[in-house]
Amino acid sequence: MPGTFIDVQVDDSVARDVGLAQKLVEVCPVDIFSVADNTLEIVEDNLDECVLCDLCLEVGPKGAVRVLKLYE
Ligand code: SF4
Repeated sequence: MPGTFIDVQVDDSVARDVGLAQKLVEVCPVDIFSVADNTLEIVEDNLDECVLCDLCLEVGPKGAVRVLKLYE
């Protein structure tokens, strides 16, 4: 199920880079990212667990990873 409060978007250039994808898996404390078949996947069931730590935003070029608040 997609997140109610949070959406996470990742540019293809990062999602297809196994090294960067793996890095996202490592930094996110709530397992929003996973890697399958060398491709990044967003674990939709975990999206609302996001703690807005912004660690994922440091991975890859600026703006390539986006955490969107769906509320406010
Ligand atoms: S902001 Fe933190 S908790 Fe949210 S997706 Fe990024 S790394 Fe995970």
